[in-house]
Amino acid sequence: MKRTLLSLSLAFALVPSLAQNKDYPIQPVPFTQVSVRDNFWLPKLRVNAEVTIPYTLAQCYRTGRIDNFLRAAGKLPADTITAFTFDDTDLYKLIEGASYSLQNKPNPKLAKTLDSLISVIAAAQEPDGYLYTFRTMKPKKQHDWVGSKRWEKEEDLSHELYNAGHLYEAAVAHYLATGKKNFLNIATKNADLLVKTFGWGKEEKFPGHQVVEMGLAKLYRVTGKKAYLDLAKFFLDLRGKEGHLNHEYSQAHKKVVDQHTAVGHAVRATYMYTGMADVAALTGDKAYLSAIDDIWHDAVEKKIYITGGIGATNNGEAFGGDFDLPNMTAYAETCASIANVYWNSRMFLLHGDGQYIDVLERILYNGLLSGVSLSGDKFFYPNPLASLGQHQRSSWFDCACCISNMSRFLPSMPGYVYAQNRNDLYVNLYVGSVSTIKLPVSKIKLTQETNYPWNGTIKLTVDPEQAANFAVKMRIPGWAQNKPIPGGLYQVMQSLKAKPVLLLNGKPVAYDIEKGYATVKRSWKKGDQLELQLPWEVTKVEARSEVAADQKRFALQMGPILYCLEGPDNKDSAVMNIVVNKNAPVQTVYNEQLLNGVMTIQMTGSATKRMENSDALQLTDQTVTAIPYYSWANRGPSEMEVWIPYDASAAKPKPAPSIASKSTVSSSVKNKRMFRALNDQYEPADSKDGSASYLHWWPKNNTEEWVQYDFDKEYTISESSVYWFDDGPWGGCRIPLEWKLYYKKGSEWIPVKNLSPYTITKDKFDTVKFEAVTTTALKLVVQLPKDNSTGIHEWSVK
Ligand SMILES: [Zn+2]
Repeated sequence: MKRTLLSLSLAFALVPSLAQNKDYPIQPVPFTQVSVRDNFWLPKLRVNAEVTIPYTLAQCYRTGRIDNFLRAAGKLPADTITAFTFDDTDLYKLIEGASYSLQNKPNPKLAKTLDSLISVIAAAQEPDGYLYTFRTMKPKKQHDWVGSKRWEKEEDLSHELYNAGHLYEAAVAHYLATGKKNFLNIATKNADLLVKTFGWGKEEKFPGHQVVEMGLAKLYRVTGKKAYLDLAKFFLDLRGKEGHLNHEYSQAHKKVVDQHTAVGHAVRATYMYTGMADVAALTGDKAYLSAIDDIWHDAVEKKIYITGGIGATNNGEAFGGDFDLPNMTAYAETCASIANVYWNSRMFLLHGDGQYIDVLERILYNGLLSGVSLSGDKFFYPNPLASLGQHQRSSWFDCACCISNMSRFLPSMPGYVYAQNRNDLYVNLYVGSVSTIKLPVSKIKLTQETNYPWNGTIKLTVDPEQAANFAVKMRIPGWAQNKPIPGGLYQVMQSLKAKPVLLLNGKPVAYDIEKGYATVKRSWKKGDQLELQLPWEVTKVEARSEVAADQKRFALQMGPILYCLEGPDNKDSAVMNIVVNKNAPVQTVYNEQLLNGVMTIQMTGSATKRMENSDALQLTDQTVTAIPYYSWANRGPSEMEVWIPYDASAAKPKPAPSIASKSTVSSSVKNKRMFRALNDQYEPADSKDGSASYLHWWPKNNTEEWVQYDFDKEYTISESSVYWFDDGPWGGCRIPLEWKLYYKKGSEWIPVKNLSPYTITKDKFDTVKFEAVTTTALKLVVQLPKDNSTGIHEWSVK
């Protein structure tokens, strides 16, 4: 009985309805019906099941996240709490991912572990359904975000409803995977409390961090209880009401139906847009649709990286302004990529347009997959598009949202391959797999054979139980039609030479592309085969002129894969100094030994180098190798860049030898990876230029700090210049209060006798001249502002 329930369930994100009539016109084919059999995704799904999920669970134990529940249950003393009020959600997301993985592959031991974790969660729930370990355990010292009463700080940072949302998503996943109601009952008990507590004329508070809206929609689908759907709509409609915390950060600056641009915290935003799509689908609300349609255009036409990442700035983990897409400081949180897959999949289910899958596919193969290492136990929170080696994957973060999100997302990936609308069958992603799909006219077995994403030939064998009339809609990806991302934020520099070719039983079929699909409608019989040949050429892509960070540069893509240059594949482990002519021919080479097997791109380019006492650049030819972006940072820290300069002025040449460049750097800053910024001879565009490297003391303020050059030999010097880093008004660094130079005499540090004042200015070098001294070391001492920190872009000595 339980297994029947499972096999019929639409379990990837949407679940079968008990009561409602309205829902998405298109329904995804659940991942449980799609058995992946390829060389790309299958190994990644295995690593997730065998490494990431057990590893994340072990980390939840190690970091006290499970103890939080035991403390709330009174089984451990509440003498300490963990770092964040949303730490409960890591366990919920872990159970969600583990439940999905149980559906992919039964694992009785894991199923038992989940039961015991669920009993721990049940014990932490208060009798009326309230579940929030930080408050229930009554710790000796309460977290600042919690507030003295339930929900008091919900619109701000308590995350009580955020925790509830992830609880519901996980409980629904577990119920559908196992047929057991032990977790679902905890969720509905909590949701019933919310229904009793919140609503017009009752507690009128919106969730500070969205996700409960999606969770309530799922809970509504499995229980049929309309109060859950109404509550989701209430939480959305309350936003923007006067007397609340009306800031953009949590998308509460306007009523949701009056919002037309993507603003604020990118994960909150994208979960909200997904929740709006769910509620719109379930209620038929047209105003929600019009708002999220506008917001989607704004996001993909002005605010998305070529990797599919969103949320450009770490300031509020938020969307930046229009076309403000810095590469090295790109935030592009892994959670935001996952949320954006959810949102775009819902937009597709509403509209049946392949452009949403174009965005989804780009995120999936690039900016999302980059979030986890090939080994499955190292992670990125931000996913930058350029690095000097300061970015490395971590084995954990205090705020572990991205890790638990990755562990829950990946097992559900096969649920994005197919979708159906009556007798229309959508083939959205090209993944080697065997699937069984029930259309009204017949049950069909579908076999996809392909070496995607390393090859563009896809063979789809269609085996209906009996001959039947239906439509197979093959998605013709935007990238195969010279549209990297819908809307023109990025354009190809040369069009593809070939066009997509479709064959039916070996014979070419004429087709029109409608809403991104080539449709073959006919009477299908056993063994019929469609073959799609997508143009498989490397494409150079450039960004619109408004995207300052990408000018005079191109990015490389082939199929859905976006490429980058990384140190280990290139001469001297350097890539920032590389320039490649925009017409340079490229060659592809599959390397089975590299990064678990990747297609590389090779071309001839030049390394740029500064010359001593001259502004001229020295260019030396070399072979340049690019690898898939998702696979970078698996070989230790190194330089990386996605946008390759085609003009030498955009490159970062190797510095010419100078007193500074030959010096050994030390500093009161502990992070040695920042040292290189001081003497890389790269002049920033201005003080706030985050794409140029800089050394900083953030979050320190009001302290005295220092940097020091130990020269390679004794020099007579009489001048020094410094370029300050200042990311005001939003960032935490400002020009300093004071600075002074000291030279080394014996073992003592002596102030230089300055002949010009120590100026302190923004956006240019401050140069001080002093009486010549002969020394082996120079120290710059800096007084940080009272309420801010300081940083240095560049420091030179003459
Ligand atoms: Zn995250």
